[in-house]
Amino acid sequence: MRITISVEPRHSDNSRCGHLVKPSGKPRDPASGCTGRTTYAVVCSQHGDVGTGHHIKALAEPVAREHRQEHLTAPPSR
Ligand SMILES: [Zn+2]
Ligand SMILES: [Zn+2]
Repeated sequence: MRITISVEPRHSDNSRCGHLVKPSGKPRDPASGCTGRTTYAVVCSQHGDVGTGHHIKALAEPVAREHRQEHLTAPPSR
């Protein structure tokens, strides 16, 4: 199985935010039901959430990169 690690924006209730938001993280369309992005979670297709959420995307990206590297250097045993 191919492992994917991605950075996923989340609302304050920890649900995924796929809405369009302004650079401030506030919802672009008030009618979308979006409550605004509060955290960015690093999600691994094998491990699920990696660590805790990050308040800005720039902090989550290095964690995602590091985790991806861990999979490359130490493949999990079958
Ligand atoms: Zn949203
Ligand atoms: Zn993983």
